[in-house]
Amino acid sequence: MQARDPSCEDDFDNASLSCEEALRRILANVDIVSGHERVHLRSALGRILAEQIVSPIDVPTHTNSAMDGYAIAGGDVPERGERRFAVVGTAFAGRPFNASVSSGQTVRIMTGAAMPENTDTVVMQEHAQISADGILIDGNHKRGQHVRAAGEDLSAGAIVLEVGHCIGPAELGLIASLGVGEVSVRRRVRVAYFSTGDELRSIGEQLGLGEIYDSNRYTLYAMLSRAGVDVIDMGVVRDTRDAVASALSEAAANADVVITSGGVSVGEADFVKEVVESLGEVGFWKVAMKPGRPLAFGKIGDTRFFGLPGNPVSVMVTYYQFVEPALVKMSGGSIESRLETTAVATEPLKKRPGRTEYQRGILSRGDDGSLRVRGTGDQGSGILHSMSIADCFIVLPMASAGVEAGATVTVQPFLGIL
Ligand code: AMP
Ligand code: MG
Repeated sequence: MQARDPSCEDDFDNASLSCEEALRRILANVDIVSGHERVHLRSALGRILAEQIVSPIDVPTHTNSAMDGYAIAGGDVPERGERRFAVVGTAFAGRPFNASVSSGQTVRIMTGAAMPENTDTVVMQEHAQISADGILIDGNHKRGQHVRAAGEDLSAGAIVLEVGHCIGPAELGLIASLGVGEVSVRRRVRVAYFSTGDELRSIGEQLGLGEIYDSNRYTLYAMLSRAGVDVIDMGVVRDTRDAVASALSEAAANADVVITSGGVSVGEADFVKEVVESLGEVGFWKVAMKPGRPLAFGKIGDTRFFGLPGNPVSVMVTYYQFVEPALVKMSGGSIESRLETTAVATEPLKKRPGRTEYQRGILSRGDDGSLRVRGTGDQGSGILHSMSIADCFIVLPMASAGVEAGATVTVQPFLGIL
């Protein structure tokens, strides 16, 4: 058979890399960026810790009550029958009872209030019988019950969070609970990006024949912002060698990563790969996936380069499958927690063997509570609307020839909880 350049219509292509291999190579070629900064706690949301967080205090600082009730000395619990206690005061959360408690006495205590001196046990108010001159307590109480010990949650000096931990809502609260107001976080990865294409116009411009508005820069802006990187939007670059070369050089001088969209296929005006080759290196440029082929990955000096395809859905798929994991690694975070699960297809999903497909899906629950998924309809790589109605990718492996309704398929939900 005559050798020819690969085309997007090919299903099998020996020169292509599998998605797994492509991701493996990309991750092997990126490293954590150096540098960190101290930020106020609220600004640390979404950032990656560059220091261990060690508790400067015991949490809780004081032994306190876990219930509303009565604080007594454990030794005062009667062996049998009931015992009368004189109520000598009240302890509130933040307003302690400041005197010592003697045998036969009790202090009315609220949840979170510090345990008064000589008490170590709380009797729930529901289990105390109020009498004219105090309360009556029976023998069914264990010494130490309903009490939270000082340092029970964390003791002073304990490591609370490790370097590399991503700060989410729980971590923000946890650090605040230690009274710590500033933390050291890794510097953000700087990402420059631009769109290529003579057909692209910016919002506000008139469209001529064959022209379209540039949407990839907006999609990329949104995805990158969510990923917590610093973004440098370099606009639309014309399809000439010089324009692409100067934009890439400028991007490489200012950023850790440069992302382009368009111009990496084999068309007449697709110069991106060629220009990167002249300025640096391109690692590969074909991945056995749909949508998304072709994809370029390389470097210009120390700056990593991702040349994404031009089609709007391909941009999103390749970004999520390859670029975001690399950005997470460069940011110092962990990519292990990305959720992939399975769902039952409620309709047949068409596919030809040869490439991994990332179809757009809509999740639902069956009557039995199990996860179901259906396709969004037309899976064309230019149909950005399909991404907006989807809430997951349906990942169909390379060898799959499509699935029947009822088959279990792998899905990547778009959103988690935290
Ligand atoms: P290319 O890879 O440059 O051949 O582009 C492939 C397809 O994606 C073409 O139909 C382009 O018009 C379209 N495309 C490229 N860049 C963008 C963009 N920034 N926004 C919307 N569509 C684009
Ligand atoms: Mg183009």
